Amino acid sequence: MDYQKILDNIYEEMSYRDVSGKVASYIPELAKVDPKKFGMHLYCGKKQHYSFGDSEENFSVQSITKVFTLAMTMNIMGEDLWRRVNVEPSGNPFNSLTQLEQENGIPRNPFINAGALVISDILVDHLDNPKEDLLAFVRKITGDDDIHYDETIAISEKSNGYRNIALANYMKALGNIKCDVDPILDFYFHQCSLAMSCRDLAKAFMVFANKGTILETGESFIEPKIVKRINALMQTCGFYDEAGEFSFEVGLPGKSGVGGGIVAIHPDNYSVAVWSPILNPKGNSELGMKALERLTTLTGVSVF
Ligand code: GLU
Repeated sequence: MDYQKILDNIYEEMSYRDVSGKVASYIPELAKVDPKKFGMHLYCGKKQHYSFGDSEENFSVQSITKVFTLAMTMNIMGEDLWRRVNVEPSGNPFNSLTQLEQENGIPRNPFINAGALVISDILVDHLDNPKEDLLAFVRKITGDDDIHYDETIAISEKSNGYRNIALANYMKALGNIKCDVDPILDFYFHQCSLAMSCRDLAKAFMVFANKGTILETGESFIEPKIVKRINALMQTCGFYDEAGEFSFEVGLPGKSGVGGGIVAIHPDNYSVAVWSPILNPKGNSELGMKALERLTTLTGVSVF
């Protein structure tokens, strides 16, 4: 398969002018990003990298990091985690509070904000240095020690994160948050501020395409049975209230973030990341989704 040619075709076909959405602005720092940025990186084997555009530039990966913290938490708790978080699509916006009351403070899935905050609670509870441990986890699977939090983004989100603050307090009141809310929120806002490029993300997610083994080193790092669960959740819950549409258009497990990044995997085949900051009304990168739709259509390869 000539992946570079396919990526070149996608780059030629698409322009940020063809999209009608807006860059996320509820986190003030994210509103400053250049809306014209567009990059893609596909990684399909040792030293087999294909890319275009701004694929090496760091951006705020935001909710994509929920996959990393889920993997860390499953390593700690295994299947006991599902007593604290459910595994169903929410059918509601990612930052919604509405389902929590009827469902006893158990979030619908680990990728909505409520679910990610319960995951943060577990990591803050079990780890002495959760922020350092998350960095170590991401650096290990990416094979790059130069991955950092963006403090400016973390502070910007903290000063405006009223919904996340409300979610953490609400779940504390409903009995599904154990630690103090401040360290949980501090961890969560830092996790969301991780700065990575499409290349970094494609490398990081290869571990989920490769049954938990880090491709470059051959090290088994996440148990295959955990990877199976995580990939299923990416397929069913990875795209806010648009997971059905993403499956329909693209047909790959993946995760998006409000920084405009999307990462997707084809198990046993490749991992791919795309970045374009303009979001559609559901909060997914508009151009990113179109680019991935073209990728699975032009290659004829999706999980379906
Ligand atoms: N930090 C963002 C928030 O909590 C993450 C949202 C996202 O990327 O989905 O609102």
